[in-house]
Amino acid sequence: MRDLTRPFSRRSLLAHTSRLGAFCAAARLIPLPALAESLANDPRVAETPLVDKGFALVRQIGKGLYATISDRSKGLQTRSNGGFLVGRDAALLIEGFQTPIGAAFQMDALRMVTQVPVRAAIDSHFHFDHSLGNSYYGGHGVPVWAHGKVASRMMERYPTMQSEDLEKLLVPWKKRVSEAKTDAERQHAQSDIEGLTGMFEPIQQSVLALPNHPLDPAKMPMTVDLGGLSVVIETYLGHTDTDLIFRVPDQNVVYTGDLLVNAQYPTNLDGYPTAWRATLEKFAAFHKDTIFVPGHGQLCGLEGVALLRELFDDIAGQAERLHRAGVPAEEAVERYVVPDKYRNFRMFSWGFTVGRTIEQLYAEWGGTSKPLSY
Ligand SMILES: [Zn+2]
Repeated sequence: MRDLTRPFSRRSLLAHTSRLGAFCAAARLIPLPALAESLANDPRVAETPLVDKGFALVRQIGKGLYATISDRSKGLQTRSNGGFLVGRDAALLIEGFQTPIGAAFQMDALRMVTQVPVRAAIDSHFHFDHSLGNSYYGGHGVPVWAHGKVASRMMERYPTMQSEDLEKLLVPWKKRVSEAKTDAERQHAQSDIEGLTGMFEPIQQSVLALPNHPLDPAKMPMTVDLGGLSVVIETYLGHTDTDLIFRVPDQNVVYTGDLLVNAQYPTNLDGYPTAWRATLEKFAAFHKDTIFVPGHGQLCGLEGVALLRELFDDIAGQAERLHRAGVPAEEAVERYVVPDKYRNFRMFSWGFTVGRTIEQLYAEWGGTSKPLSY
């Protein structure tokens, strides 16, 4: 187990309101739940998608600004959200997605609206569901930009994972399922098997393509002028140590990568929860009319940031009570209770979200010397 788990142990809703319902009933164009209430009447957001492939759709969200929004229930070709920005002279694609098919879909959508040269495709961070489609861009002469550490992070993890035997790797997790003492423990372990499988399979099926244009975080914020459209690339610590966001200040639109996910538990496999919460506090101070394109989940406004902050508060609050009561980290991970209002929130897996967050908080509080177990 120790060798096999290395890649994981190395790191130290939308409220479906009546107003939205009425709007959608009238429009009959926006799938539900598609847009937060705050955006349902926003003139920047197009009612009709530019294109909808099932696994993802592309919707205009500003002048020259488009969001690619994934629907995992219809396929995992993109899996993450993304988008593209179109200026007078050039365009910028956001995210490499989980497969080259996803990247091709986005490139085709771009070509429906413009023939300007593509300056670059840019990964918001190194994770597989944002980078495994890079090979499509590389094969079509599009430079791939990313935070300077993305290539090395990908190489630290993914070739090793490509050589693993998934069945063998899952043995300890299957044991956890069969030996679980409660239904909750069994479900948690089962979700980790699904999470691991959902990560290993696409990685093992992919030809890795690393970004060929590393961006120096010391030089950020960095402004890219696409011709009448300026995008600012900024870096924040949180979901990983390679996170970038893409802001269009003139239009109050931000593409956040996984630093913001909407109506989902935060995946903390490589995260820094305390730094992440500080980053979200900064997002909360963005202009009140900001449209956020989160890494996963539907488009949102500031209420999406507030929702993720509340969720982090809840995990940290429960963890702190358990820590104060002397409950060991491993047990605290199992004892976290999902509040009713988050019951429908997606989790990548129990361990990668709740588990890792609580373990990392415990590590900060000095409550455990045990190695991280995911
Ligand atoms: Zn991620």
